[in-house]
Amino acid sequence: MTNNELLKGEELYELTLRPKKLDEFIGQKNIIDNLRVFIEAARKRTEPIEHILLFGPPGLGKTTLAHIIAREMEANIYPTAGPILERPFDLAGILSNLNTADVLFIDEVHRMNKAVEEYLYPALEDFCLDVMQDKGVGARVLRLNLNRFTLIGATTRSGLLTSPLRARFGISFRLDYYPSDELFYIVERSARILDVKIQENAAHEIAQRARGTPRIANRLLRRVRDFAQVKGQGEIDLEICNYALEKLEVDKRGLDDMDKKIIMTVIEKFSGGPVGINSLAVAVGEDAQTIEEVFEPFLIMEGFLNRTSRGREATNLAYEHFKIKKPHGTLF
Ligand code: ADP
Repeated sequence: MTNNELLKGEELYELTLRPKKLDEFIGQKNIIDNLRVFIEAARKRTEPIEHILLFGPPGLGKTTLAHIIAREMEANIYPTAGPILERPFDLAGILSNLNTADVLFIDEVHRMNKAVEEYLYPALEDFCLDVMQDKGVGARVLRLNLNRFTLIGATTRSGLLTSPLRARFGISFRLDYYPSDELFYIVERSARILDVKIQENAAHEIAQRARGTPRIANRLLRRVRDFAQVKGQGEIDLEICNYALEKLEVDKRGLDDMDKKIIMTVIEKFSGGPVGINSLAVAVGEDAQTIEEVFEPFLIMEGFLNRTSRGREATNLAYEHFKIKKPHGTLF
């Protein structure tokens, strides 16, 4: 079996559609501009780039960026994930095989267990590891020098990172949701790669409904393409696009179930707000930090929610979107 056959459908598409160079990465301009400088500086000094933390909601390009950074540094990348690294020994094996400037990419870096995390500290700071030789009475600790590598950690939950780990990243970038004009370019680029013809207004429609997220934009494009091939002539026009998105029950503004639940809860249970984050979290059954880090930034960017000093409030747009009549303000 080839590597490609081992990958599931979705993962295979992600790999095909993933930008390979900084120039191909659409959006997140500040991050890309800064990265260019850091990469060029590191290369001029012939040093590895500092450890980098990438944080932000899922599907915004953290893994993609990690691969791009390794490639621009002409280094290898070794991807793993926090929950996979169960014992310090798992980490020692990977670390001792890294060459200078190689990238160790740890996805969900907040989910590493304490023992593994603590074992990583000296490797990050002093590029050395303590390894146990033998067991029992004859046991000795051997100090192993490592090549200077770069750790790239990705997390959707930066709030769960311990301070000692956070402090060991020299560079830290927060990825934001993409405005729909950038998602439009991502849809067009993916359509070109997949060799699908798509009309401009249809690409805009998909971009509008992709919840600010490239992964969702690509997924919608593939689903709409299915409809275009079966129900239409193969080309994606606005009509087939709207038909497909309606069949898929994709919200006009890209809201997902949790987004809807959050807004409806603010409107119905808290009379439109303001409501404190903890009360809101209990009411929707989601953790307060996840609401703050994953859901709220999108709802605020799209103008459905306001964040005030007294709490979260539903905006006029939220009432309009759900066709709910706004109660008149209370008269004092
Ligand atoms: P994350 O690691 O943040 O969950 P990924 O890096 O896996 O997200 O990105 C998901 C998919 O979205 C990738 O396969 C890639 O095709 C696409 N993607 C992400 N960011 C961009 C971008 N800026 N430009 C083009 N495609 C992107």
